[in-house]
Amino acid sequence: MIPPIASKFVAGETPATALDRARRLNDRDVGAILNLLGEHYDSPGPAAADRDVYLSLLDDIAAVDDNVRISVKPSQIGLDVGEETFRDNLQAIVGRAGEHDCFVWIDMEDHTTTDATLDAYEAFAREHPGCVGVCLQANLKRTRDDVERLADVPGKIRLVKGAYDEPTEIAYTEKSRVNDAYRELLAYAFEHYDGGVAVGSHDPEMVDYARDLHEEFGTDFEVQMLMGVREDAQSDLAEEYEVWQYVPYGDKWLSYFYRRVMERKENVLFALRAVLTG
Ligand code: FAD
Repeated sequence: MIPPIASKFVAGETPATALDRARRLNDRDVGAILNLLGEHYDSPGPAAADRDVYLSLLDDIAAVDDNVRISVKPSQIGLDVGEETFRDNLQAIVGRAGEHDCFVWIDMEDHTTTDATLDAYEAFAREHPGCVGVCLQANLKRTRDDVERLADVPGKIRLVKGAYDEPTEIAYTEKSRVNDAYRELLAYAFEHYDGGVAVGSHDPEMVDYARDLHEEFGTDFEVQMLMGVREDAQSDLAEEYEVWQYVPYGDKWLSYFYRRVMERKENVLFALRAVLTG
């Protein structure tokens, strides 16, 4: 069982805890995007095991009448083993999702994986229109080209600032430059995409900008935030817009929890307070 301190950011260890979290979010009109924690498997076995967990999770999701989607990491389902393994596992997951009318997001990892991830997204989204989405990172200089290239793909994009430290030759590293790139990409997507834009950010400025763009272009969009981050804002936004919460679960929660705590001073204080008060 995960300690109470980690349950701010992680739903629990089992699919049942994740589905329970999803039900409670749906009660607040917030959708749930479930992510089984796990990444960088260097042999086919663990990748196949996580694929099977996702297949069974999709069956469970289909059995409840809730707003629940899944999000998978390419290296969790075999990209480090090889592109073929990744595609085979993704094919199985997207195929099962298609049977159940469920939606699969593909997370984006570091820049060495971008081509393989986008190529797979494009292929599967064309094969299963309306069933697949992919994450794009504003910090990568290439993303402007990617956003243009993917405009006619029948899927969705989640625009994020980017979580990985990337080399300066290929990425913007200054915060203000990443923010400018985010705004430029969002504006392009709202102007050229036929819906299917997800604002994957906790930044009130980016969410406000998306509202302005929605008014200007009429493009549908959704907001996505992480579990445990700006929960009140998620509920408030859900009164007006489609809001989805990314809900991690599984027994590999420790490194994810550590990343969340360390990214923000307030979270370190929250963790210290929880430890001190038992
Ligand atoms: P930041 O630039 O970190 O912060 C901007 C402002 O947002 C802050 O000034 C503050 O006002 C507010 N804010 C931010 N965090 C908090 C907080 N904890 N509490 C209160 N206010 C806060 N990255 C990837 O590389 N690949 C992925 O697949 C991916 N998927 C993601 C999915 C979702 C749903 C989300 C929300 C993020 C994802 N990310 C992913 C992470 C993303 O790239 C950023 O690292 C992360 O979201 C931080 O950037 P930000 O836009 O939230 O704003």
